[in-house]
Amino acid sequence: MVTVAALLFACCGQTHFATAKVKVPLPRPRPVEAPSAAAEPSSTPEVKNAEPPAAPAPVLSACRLALTETIAIAPSIPDIHGPGGCGGEDLVRLEAVVLPDNRQVTVKPAAILRCKMASAIADWVRTDIATLAKGLGSAITGLDNFDSFECRGRNRIVGAQLSEHGRANALDVRSFKFADGRMVSLTDRSVAREVRETVLHSVCARFSTVLGPGSDGYHEDHIHLDLMERRNDYRICQWDVLDPLPAVAPLLPAPRPEEAPPRAVADEPEARPNGGEADPVSVQPTEKSSADNPPTKKRR
Ligand SMILES: [Zn+2]
Repeated sequence: MVTVAALLFACCGQTHFATAKVKVPLPRPRPVEAPSAAAEPSSTPEVKNAEPPAAPAPVLSACRLALTETIAIAPSIPDIHGPGGCGGEDLVRLEAVVLPDNRQVTVKPAAILRCKMASAIADWVRTDIATLAKGLGSAITGLDNFDSFECRGRNRIVGAQLSEHGRANALDVRSFKFADGRMVSLTDRSVAREVRETVLHSVCARFSTVLGPGSDGYHEDHIHLDLMERRNDYRICQWDVLDPLPAVAPLLPAPRPEEAPPRAVADEPEARPNGGEADPVSVQPTEKSSADNPPTKKRR
């Protein structure tokens, strides 16, 4: 009996694999309902070392957690720490605002912004601008980003105080694009005054700085929006909604009336540069052309 046991030991000591197949007990699979390994203080160090150490989970801001893909396509990007205080943290690349009906408003080009500024833009577009577009019988599909993050002084003046653009806290908006193809430029005098005033009241209620035409000469072709924090919540809203320019400059002579008699010189055949060969379009008007088309001004 003793001999048999010794032989068995010798056997198994030398050919370990032969018995390992059937004799070594394996741990049972972990039940699904078991608490996580991290919660168990008794977990062995060997188990922890079996996997590479996990990177510390990034601490997400409340803004980042709230800015979901149902509100905006705005992936996070790394913090920027540039010279002279440029840059910021909790940055996103705002690619599109997602409307409540899930349609997307493309931000072109995508804007680099702090999360709070991106969130403010998204909220503004989703509510005020979407409503405005609906009232005009269309829907907003695009936002023309004239400038977002840029490490520079105010109004691009070297040595000036750091612009809010340098802190990724500002967006310059030039126009909106509508589903019906319209481009609504915010500083275009030919866009209905009521529309531009609606946007003016909307942005001045939402952003702490609004600069447009008439503010300082640097914002005649776009609207600057930012969330600069000032003492006593001081806000700046400077945007003159300008009337359309007169269609005819007042110092120019009035256009020749349609009912005016033909000029004697113009009707002389020898006065025509082609020697009197009549232009069939301009001198043989049909009843249709005079009724459906505006008269040509070719000869005036
Ligand atoms: Zn700006």
